[in-house]
Amino acid sequence: MNDVVVVGGGIAGLLSAARLVTQGAKVTLVTFGVGGLQLSHGGFDVLGYAPERVDRPFDVLDDFIAANPEHPYAVLGADAVRLGTDFASEFFGDRLVGNDGRNWLLPTAVGALRPTYLASPTMVNAEARAGHDPVVVVGLQQLKDFQAELIAGNLVKQQIPARAIVLDLPARTHEADASGLTYARAMDRADYRADFAKALGKQLLSGEKALIPAIAGHHEAAAFTDLQTRLGAPLAEIPLPPPGVPGMRLNEYASRRLQDQRVRWILGARVVALHSEGGRAVSVDVATSGHLTKVRADAVVYAPGGFESGSLSLDSHGKVLETHLGLPVRVPPGRLIGPDRRSEQPLFRSGLAVDDQMRVLDDADRPVYPNLFAAGGVLAGAMRWSEKSGEGIAAASAVRAADAIGDLA
Ligand SMILES: Cc1cc2nc3c(=O)[nH]c(=O)nc-3n(C[C@H](O)[C@H](O)[C@H](O)COP(=O)(O)OP(=O)(O)OC[C@H]3O[C@@H](n4cnc5c(N)ncnc54)[C@H](O)[C@@H]3O)c2cc1C
Repeated sequence: MNDVVVVGGGIAGLLSAARLVTQGAKVTLVTFGVGGLQLSHGGFDVLGYAPERVDRPFDVLDDFIAANPEHPYAVLGADAVRLGTDFASEFFGDRLVGNDGRNWLLPTAVGALRPTYLASPTMVNAEARAGHDPVVVVGLQQLKDFQAELIAGNLVKQQIPARAIVLDLPARTHEADASGLTYARAMDRADYRADFAKALGKQLLSGEKALIPAIAGHHEAAAFTDLQTRLGAPLAEIPLPPPGVPGMRLNEYASRRLQDQRVRWILGARVVALHSEGGRAVSVDVATSGHLTKVRADAVVYAPGGFESGSLSLDSHGKVLETHLGLPVRVPPGRLIGPDRRSEQPLFRSGLAVDDQMRVLDDADRPVYPNLFAAGGVLAGAMRWSEKSGEGIAAASAVRAADAIGDLA
């Protein structure tokens, strides 16, 4: 298996490509958009709710699999989830840190506490279990989408001693309603970090941790370390609504590393067709600059995400479609959309069915092609958002698909 095409530049596509290059494959990664990683909080969820909040995901995985036989984790098995998580952890290195087998419990942009398995080191000082030190939530007058008082108020409701302050410190002169990214770019400059540390230092009380919006540097986390040193007090980032700077840092690192490993990237282009010969996938059509380019493939990893990236859709007849290649979609039985908008919507369990090698299956449970694999959010059977399982599924299926391709060689 020399030439492998990976479709999708989200975490499933990135990790598939990363695993494939370790096996000596020549990888072409084709991606249309940015993927969920750059929109996310920049952590790695394995299992946060099942349906109650999960403290140690790998302790409950066997029970979760037994209760959810259609879930990707059931197809993969618990060992594959561990393998995928370990691979992601190794790939991202110290950009994602674990909590000794436990989920971190970290504040969100509204001050709720959210479980995640691996987190950015810039966030873990905000861990709510860590001794309940007093915290000060630091807003910025010119930053939109970060309400320090709301966050502090909600933390107080969860028995965390918190207060809010708001600094008047524009990222760019005269700019109101700046985004997190604008602030993160300002934070990449030492002079801005000095001003920020000075303004915050004046208001910080002894023994307080400072929780700032996730703006401590656009690139990598060196700006965070420098800011914390200047402040002389524990510091943590709280994610902002999408797009998320911590997710962008991970994405930038992953893209750079894969390019260094000679993965060929085709960016801003959509795979629109898959061709076969003799019962095998042999090439894909990539729509670029108004024309189609055929890219030859010994194997294809299809990782285009789910409904949120437009790869699955519901037509006006209530039929769920796989949008790009017309692959067979597995839908849960019964009503797809429930009457209560706040409860679980079975529609989102729709997706591609796969075997234990991640080969895409047809309606009769036969591989569509022996060399067509799927990974990540396009897989059937999960409620990724409510379970907080998205990255765990992506990593485990990416690694399994890549290893299966390696076995075909
Ligand atoms: C705003 C947001 C918040 C989320 N929050 C959570 C959460 O809290 N917990 C959780 O577990 N999960 C969450 N998720 C879901 C989680 O991010 C996904 O499960 C995970 O990102 C899936 O990764 P993926 O690589 O499969 O797909 P994606 O990240 O969606 O990436 C798919 C990529 O494929 C590209 N693509 C699609 N079709 C084609 C094509 N035909 N040709 C070329 N490229 C194509 C897309 O442009 C995109 O870049 C969230 C997702 C979003 C968008």
